This record gives sequence, C-alpha cells and structure tokens, in this order.
Amino acid sequence: MTAEYKVHGDVAVITLNNPPVNGLGYSTRIGITDALAQANADAAVKAIVLTGAGKAFSGGADIREFGSPKATQEPNLLSVIEALENSGKPVVAAIHTVCMGGGLELALGCHYRIAAPGCNVALPEVKLGLIPGAGGTQRLPRVLGVEPALNMIVSGEPIKSEMLAMLPGQKLFDKMAASAEALPAEALALAKEMAAKHADGSALPQVRNLPCKHPLGDAYFQFARNMVKGMSKNFPAPAKCVDAVEAATTKKFADGMAFEREIFINLMWTPECRSLRHLFTAERAASKIPDVPEDTPKREIAAVAVIGAGTMGGGIAMNFLNAGIPVKMLEMKQEALDRGIATIRKNYEAQVKKGKLKQDKYDQRMALLSTTLSYDDLGAADLVIEAVFEDIAVKEAVFKELDRVMKPGAILASNTSTLDVNNIASFTKRPQDVVGLHFFSPANVMKLLEVVRGEKNAKDVMATVMAVAKKIKKTAVVSGVCDGFIGNRMIEQYGRQGGFLLDEGCTPEQVDKAMEKFGMAMGPFRMGDLAGNDIGWAIRKRRATERADMKYSKTADLLCEKGASGRRLARAGTTTSRASVTPFPMPKWSR
Ligand code: NAD
Repeated sequence: MTAEYKVHGDVAVITLNNPPVNGLGYSTRIGITDALAQANADAAVKAIVLTGAGKAFSGGADIREFGSPKATQEPNLLSVIEALENSGKPVVAAIHTVCMGGGLELALGCHYRIAAPGCNVALPEVKLGLIPGAGGTQRLPRVLGVEPALNMIVSGEPIKSEMLAMLPGQKLFDKMAASAEALPAEALALAKEMAAKHADGSALPQVRNLPCKHPLGDAYFQFARNMVKGMSKNFPAPAKCVDAVEAATTKKFADGMAFEREIFINLMWTPECRSLRHLFTAERAASKIPDVPEDTPKREIAAVAVIGAGTMGGGIAMNFLNAGIPVKMLEMKQEALDRGIATIRKNYEAQVKKGKLKQDKYDQRMALLSTTLSYDDLGAADLVIEAVFEDIAVKEAVFKELDRVMKPGAILASNTSTLDVNNIASFTKRPQDVVGLHFFSPANVMKLLEVVRGEKNAKDVMATVMAVAKKIKKTAVVSGVCDGFIGNRMIEQYGRQGGFLLDEGCTPEQVDKAMEKFGMAMGPFRMGDLAGNDIGWAIRKRRATERADMKYSKTADLLCEKGASGRRLARAGTTTSRASVTPFPMPKWSR
C-alpha cells in the first residue's frame, strides 16, 4: 500500500507514500480510498488530512502505469476524487513542494486546501498532448477564475503556490501555511477547526458547486482560441484546453466533466499525444546508462575552460556561469575573445532588459568569467570543452595542447558536430578522459545535450558529465561514436533533400514554409541560417573526401563560397526564449 494512515487525536492523516513524487498509481489510489473509508467509519475521527510524504504532495498519474489497464482500474482517479468529495467528514489537503496534474485534481476534490509556500502547482497534461482528465478543466476555473486557470492549463507551466494565493478572489487555497515545516501542524489545526465548524452537520464545501463564468463569455473564448491556435500550430491539445474550460462556463458540472472526459479519451490516441508520451518516457530513459550505475563515483567539476569564443563557445560558457561555475575562455586572438565576451554580455543584457535576470545576478555571472590566450592558464580546470572550427586538423592541434596542460583527471570534451570522438581522443595520452559534449545552438537556450561516449571512456567520466548536464539544466542523451551522432544524423537526409530542392529551383523560403506547415518548428534553411551555413559546408567538404558516393546540393556550397555563412543568432545577441515575465507564462510548446 502506498498510502499511510495515522490518527492524531481526532484527525486522521492519510499520507501518500509512493516515491519519487507520490504518483497516483493503483496501489496509491486504493490506499487513499481504503484509508478514507477507515476514517469515516471511526467515530473518534472528526476530520481528515490528505498529504504526501517526501518531496511532493503528488506529481499526478504514475507514469509507470501509462497505457496499461492498471491506469484506469477502479478505483480510478475520478472515483477517488468523488470519494473525497463525498466524505462525510471534512477532508483538508495539505499541499507542499509539488502538486501537479492528477495531484492537483485530487486536491481540488478535497473540501479545504492549505498550501506551503514554494510549492509548484500545475496541470501539465498539455505537454503530453492531453488535457487534464480528472476534472482539472472544470474545477480549476471555479477556484482561480477562468483566465488564470486557462493560462495554467494551456501552458502546463508550474506556478508557485504563494503567487496563486495572491490572485484576487482565489479559492484554491483556504490558507497558506507559514512554511513547509509548519504545514503538518497547521493542516491539523485547520482540520480541527473545520470539524468544529461542521459539527452541526452543515454541508461540506465542494468545488463543483462554485459558479464559473467569464464576464465577456464568447468574446473572451474566441480571443483565447485564436491566440492558442496561432501558437500551438499542429498540436491539437491546446485548443481542446480552451474548449474544455469554456464548457466549465457553459455547461452543468456533470456535463462539463463528461465533455472533458470525451476530449481526454479522443486525444489519448492521437499521433501527437502518443509521440509526446513516448518522448516523455524516452527522455527519462535516456538519462540512464545501463552499465554505469547511478552510484558511480563522480569527479568534482568546480572550474571549466572553453576553447573557442564563437557561436557555440559563448553559449556553452553561459550555461556554466548560470550554474555558478567559473569559466575561463581561450581564443587565438584578443579580438576574438573580445567579440565572444561582448556577445555574452549582450545576451545577458537582453535578459536584464526584459526583467528575466536581475542586475546583481548578471554582475555575479560576469565576475565568474575570465579569458586567456595561453593554454598554460587552463591547467586548473576540471572540465574543458573545445568549440573550435569543425576541422579535424584544428581539433588535433587543440587536443594535443590540452593533453599537455590539463591536470590529471580533468575531463576533455569536444563539441564537435560530426567528427570521430575516438579519433579526437587518440590525439591525447588519456583517451579515457575524452568525451563528446555536443550542445545545440543557441547553446545557452537549447535543452538537448548529446553525450558522445568514446570506446575508451572511463565510466566515472560518463557519470560525471551526466551529472554536469543536470546541473546546467540540459537533457543529456548518450550517443555512440558515428558521423553526426543522433540529432544531426536524423536530419541529414532531410537537409540533403532540402538542398536538392534549391538546385531544382525552389527558394529556401518555399521549402521552409512547407516544412513549417508540416509541423517542424523551423524549416531546414532557417535552421542552417541560425546555426551557421559554414558548419554544414565544412561537414560536406569532409564527406566529399570520405564518402564520394554522397551527393549534396550545389546551391548550398555556392552560397557559402560567396561568404553567406548565416545569421548566427547567439552572436547577434538574441535568444529564442519566449518565456514570459508575467506570472502566467504563455505556452512553451509553441517553441
Ligand atoms: P565559430 O566559427 O562560431 O567559432 C569557432 C571559434 O573557435 C572562433 O571564434 C575561432 O576563432 C575559434 N578557434 C578556431 N581555432 C582555434 C584554436 N586553435 N584555438 C582557439 N580558438 C580557436 O564556430 P561554432 O559554430 O561555435 O562551432 C564550433 C564547434 O561547435 C564546431 O565543431 C561545430 O561543428 C560545433 N557545433 C556547432 C553548432 C552550431 O550550430 N553552430 C552546433 C553544435 C556544434
């Protein structure tokens, strides 16, 4: 059983205990309903507190049950919520740390809610191509108001409990606890208070009975629909969130619930939802390396060096500065260093201007950055990442220098897009310490990090770089050594065929438009423009000698020969992040 039952005086406390996030799997659900029945049957119990052990109230559905019959086996989540609502004794949800998805829907089925500050509250189902399926779209607007609720549902983004508590007229939280530590005692006190209040048999409040209206009705939903449609492109779920929330304002509660359920079930088997769910589990699986156990000792990474202050070097450095890790950048010439530093400054200054970064944080980050023109200054770094031209001869020279100066045990990484990491490792006398760390452009924004495992890599090097990736908030995926690793290998034929279309007379705009209409976030030429056309050019030139059978577009080469190397976004000092500074961020799936 993954729900514990204890009685404190005249209050029963049901504690979800299903690590890591108290997922609402079958055994947790049955644990709740059994405990609830026990509390209601015990005459000495006057009220009930529902809370979560460890690091969450509840993170929602148990992903391990996804797609299995267990996910819907009775008592399913809807039945558990109904049981809470129908409890004859007041149920108080004591919410802390994480309250998401089904966890929030569970809390909305309780009669009262008390939250600790700092709790992340969200209905993130849209990120899996779904809408909330256990009343979230019908109950959240009733407690928060239609607009904040729709923003949360359509973006799926977490909002801090204390921010939600500040919303005028909100009924999500009846009380905010002074702190997470104070929550258990304050929840018990609230439960006792409510037991006394309802001792006369007065009806217990249910969110379903609250009114739900928007003063502008149709006009507001039309506006929301247009806005969401514009941003969500081919994803069906965001627009369905609008439909479901609208139903909360136009239909009776039970009809709204049935409408929500129907949408949820229809979305569940769409290709978009299936793909997003696959992605969700695949991302988690990718962070694990079968022969490198989680408890593998890790090397300490307290200082980092970056070779090359170009498009990638600057972005890579920012990741570490953001994480509070000092970075030393090396270039061949002072002008290149100055240019690189100026770009980093511009990126940060843009964030300060938009209110996303405080001035003092900016100053702290820049203070962690230093530069050099000499390899002899790099020896103290624990990790060095090379981001110089995509040319094996240049990489060879760099890695020979690194082998000479880096301290024993330092990790030597290459950001190469396509080159053979085993070959790069062979330029040193420590191939066990050489690994590929392939960032994507703009490196300070893009989440993906390919960790390229060389054949001689030490296991603790792998464990260390995976931990470093987490620290700098990247999604690390391990790749073997091959031409293009994973991402670039996947788009290889796509880019090639796009190039042939140019040779046959299409404009890049036409090709991009068609691909964006199909659903790609960016067409192949816009992407090349951002990353730098010269990178692809360098790769094509290398392949021309290695794989003569592989033909490429002539137009793309011609452009590069004329010096059209692309826009190079990071160098221009902008980022693609659209994260909003408002308390209710706009949808992130639109990126
Ligand atoms: P870039 O031309 O913008 O920057 C390269 C920098 O390295 C330049 O500033 C150059 O002065 C410096 N440099 C060259 N030789 C050097 C040396 N011997 N010592 C010190 N500095 C040297 O290139 P980039 O786009 O940043 O690409 C760098 C690496 O990252 C390449 O291997 C590329 O394949 C890879 N990469 C690029 C992208 C992208 O989208 N641009 C994405 C992922 C990986």
